[in-house]
Order: sequence, then C-alpha cells, then structure tokens
Amino acid sequence: MKIIKIEGIVVGEQNYSESSKILRIFTKDLGIISVLSKGCKKTKSNLREGSNKLILANFDISYKDNGLSTLIGVDIIDIYKNIILDYHDLEKKMYAFTIIDLTVQVLGQKQIDENEVKDIYDILKSTLSKINDGLSPKVLLDIVMLKYLKFLGVLPNIDSCSICGGNFEIISLDSKSFGFVCRECYTNEKITSQAALKLIRMLYYVDIDKIKKLDELDGINEVEEFIDNYYEDHTGIYFNIKKKLMTLNKMNAVL
Ligand SMILES: [Zn+2]
Repeated sequence: MKIIKIEGIVVGEQNYSESSKILRIFTKDLGIISVLSKGCKKTKSNLREGSNKLILANFDISYKDNGLSTLIGVDIIDIYKNIILDYHDLEKKMYAFTIIDLTVQVLGQKQIDENEVKDIYDILKSTLSKINDGLSPKVLLDIVMLKYLKFLGVLPNIDSCSICGGNFEIISLDSKSFGFVCRECYTNEKITSQAALKLIRMLYYVDIDKIKKLDELDGINEVEEFIDNYYEDHTGIYFNIKKKLMTLNKMNAVL
C-alpha cells in the first residue's frame, strides 16, 4: 500500500454502504481504478463533493495494486458546473454521461494500450470542458465516436477511396465499404454531399481544445448517419449508447 496523488475523472459511482461509495476514477497513468470513498455520503464528509460522477480532481489515494484502494482526500479541479447545474437543459448532462459511458466501454476493450489510454483521457477531458463551455454536445459526441474508432481498431478510410486507395473524385461515404468510395469503384452506395465528405475529415482530425464553435455545420446529418451505421456495422457498442440516449430523451420530455 502506498499513498498517491493522481488526477482523474469520476466515471462511475456505486453505493457501498449507507454512507460510502465505490468510485471508478479514470486516470491518465493508471487507467480506471476503483476506490472506496468511505463516509462520503455524510453531510460533513470532506470527500462528499468529490465523490460524484463527472468530477475532475486531484485525488489522494491509499493505493493497493491488488484489492480495493481508499480515497483519502479530494482537490477538485472542475465540477463542470454548467453541465451539472443546468436543470432546464438536461441535454448537456445526458450527452456528457453518454460520452463517459462510451469511454468506459472503449477502455474495456482488450487491445487498448497505455498510450491509447492517455490519448483517450485527453479526448474525454477536452470534450467535457467544451460541453461545459456551451458547445453542441451532440456534435461533440459525434467527434468522440469518430475519434474512438481508431482505438476500437476499425477506423474507416476517410483519406482516400477505401476500395482502390485512389484520391480522385470521392463521391460516397459508406459504412459497409469502410469509408470513402470513388466514382470508379462506386456501385450502388448512397451519394454523399461534398460538404459531408469534408466535414467528417474535419471532425476526425480536429484538436478538440481548439474548437471555438460547432453550429451550422454543412453535412452534419449525413456524417451522423454514417457514424451511427458504422458503430452498428463494425463495433459492438452502438445499441447500448443509442438506447441510453433514447431513454434519457424520454426522461427529458417528462421533465
Ligand atoms: Zn476507388
């Protein structure tokens, strides 16, 4: 057992007893770790505020390589106030939680290595910050879904024709064909607008930290449809995500 101080994002919480929780904290260096937050549900506990899903903080942890580690202290960096406290607009929270759950699923894949964990951490942290800043959470989910395809080992070809490798006259973005299709290789795929072909590259290659605005994107509906189809065709995690969003949408409608 050793004491460590580590930055992380709470990606899961589970009641442990009447007053305690087990937190799942996503850290850049150690991946996801489970930590007992003892007594955090008591009003006076100094672990209380930091023991909730979505918190970004520096955590002091009594760390065990094998077995359950224990939380000792929390130094909060960001509670993502605009995501959590906007009761009139649950959309931000809904998307933030979906992105977190998607991240946990991606991290659970066997092929993910240490460097990829670090990249995924940076993507998640930047994305949550941008949702908090008020940028479209829906488009941010698209960006994250696109970027995660690389870690899932099924990145579509959006640099050249996925069939011949050529770069001349790309006319379709097709899930079953794994990405771009040129006029020569075209059979019966749906024709995609040039705006959408350009947009998907922009969304994949963009540095999330540098995004200033995300509205009025030409071709976004086509790109979104492609991403949804692609998750369904080539990954195992499409349905969980969409089902969750649909349930939350219903909750939103009721509230
Ligand atoms: Zn081709």
